[in-house]
Amino acid sequence: MILRTLLALMLAVQPVVAADLPDLGEVSRQYFSDQEEQLLGRMILRDVYADPRYLDDPGIEQYLDQIGYRLVSVSSRNQQRFNFFVVSDPTINAFAMPGGLIGVHTGLLLAAQSESELAGVIAHEIAHVTQDHIARMVAAQSQSQWPTLAALGLALLAARSNANVASAAIATTQAYSIQNQLNYGRDYEREADRLGFETLTRAGFDPRGMESFFGRMQRANRFYDTSAPAYLRTHPLTTERIADMSARSESAPYQQITDSLEFQLVRARLRAMDDSPQEAVRAAQAALKEGRYSSAAAARYELVTALARARRFQEAEAELQALLAGQAASPMIAQLAGDTALAADQPALALQRYEAGRRAYPEYGPLILGTLRAQLLGGQPADALVLVERQLLLRPGDRRLWHLAAEAHARLGHRLLSHRAQAEAAALSGNLVAAIEQITLGIKAADGGFHELSAAEARRREWQQAETLQRERRQ
Ligand SMILES: [Zn+2]
Repeated sequence: MILRTLLALMLAVQPVVAADLPDLGEVSRQYFSDQEEQLLGRMILRDVYADPRYLDDPGIEQYLDQIGYRLVSVSSRNQQRFNFFVVSDPTINAFAMPGGLIGVHTGLLLAAQSESELAGVIAHEIAHVTQDHIARMVAAQSQSQWPTLAALGLALLAARSNANVASAAIATTQAYSIQNQLNYGRDYEREADRLGFETLTRAGFDPRGMESFFGRMQRANRFYDTSAPAYLRTHPLTTERIADMSARSESAPYQQITDSLEFQLVRARLRAMDDSPQEAVRAAQAALKEGRYSSAAAARYELVTALARARRFQEAEAELQALLAGQAASPMIAQLAGDTALAADQPALALQRYEAGRRAYPEYGPLILGTLRAQLLGGQPADALVLVERQLLLRPGDRRLWHLAAEAHARLGHRLLSHRAQAEAAALSGNLVAAIEQITLGIKAADGGFHELSAAEARRREWQQAETLQRERRQ
């Protein structure tokens, strides 16, 4: 719900002429304090995760993270934390939000004809973040030069308070007034294009990716001014922008960049998850038979995924073996091998496959999550606990690991530690109220030692303070 409001916020209805822009080269962080931006980011993230259209797929998210951070690392704000996520939506769109949040629609992942095209759009969005465009738009419109978090917070809250008609009416009015102002103007678009192009080039993608994607969109939509796809309404595309992109592309040295296998696998996975399972199987079988694919391995990967979804495990296993016998190697294929066994309710085989995958790709997070699931499903919660605790030392910010830690503790009868892990997962998802509830349940369970109990109490105080601050800022 809130995601839709946010998307609406990002949609351009009328282009705004951004007046009095400071010199675009140097951007001071005067619009939000870092703390405010983090707070806002956390509020938005909670709504993202709660939205049914959020695609909770660690493998695809990991791929997007890889592309995203490859770009971020050569951008002007390479120290900032970004959060890339996928939204199940067939429209071609991507959007940036405060706190370094960047959402990508599945429609965009499927429409991109090369990895560099996808990276071009993400690089453009990253530039909107590094240049503080959203905060500046709010600043340009409000009376004071210092927009408060409350102004945006209210807009964000509008959808959430639907049940409460009285306050919703007030919030909605404010949300609309902000909505009409939030669209990227020409200056912002030009800047995001220019910086995005630089980032794209520096990160080693084909710099022509940007022009080929935007150019194709423009040609496809020449005759549909009023029903332009969401992306074009959010980021108004002008002849001038296209001309600038062409000029930049022409001056770029020619280089042939090969797409990663993962780019094809991610798209194969999305296609296999689309439609009814039987329809997805039919489509994948036809594509494989008729040779309509850019990668044979990806075509087979799609078929295995679709067959497992249709619970046709024997056929899935046969196609998987054909895939594994081929030349293609990727952590996503190792993951698929484990996932197929797990879906067929064979946790021992799944565990064996995930562990083999981890020997080849020790850093690949989804294989660790798979191992933990197989251990829990196979009745080995003590092993799962050892592994998850070791992993949490390396990645304490991984909410999926905390969920699995909670499950391992629960199976072992550790009530305090299970609730504590649930609470950490909730806090990382931006939901402090749920975090406080969970940790309170844990403290009441009173089955921990003195140290565990006092640690939990300290953690609860910390969250209570942060939650109070959040509430104050919203008023
Ligand atoms: Zn834009």
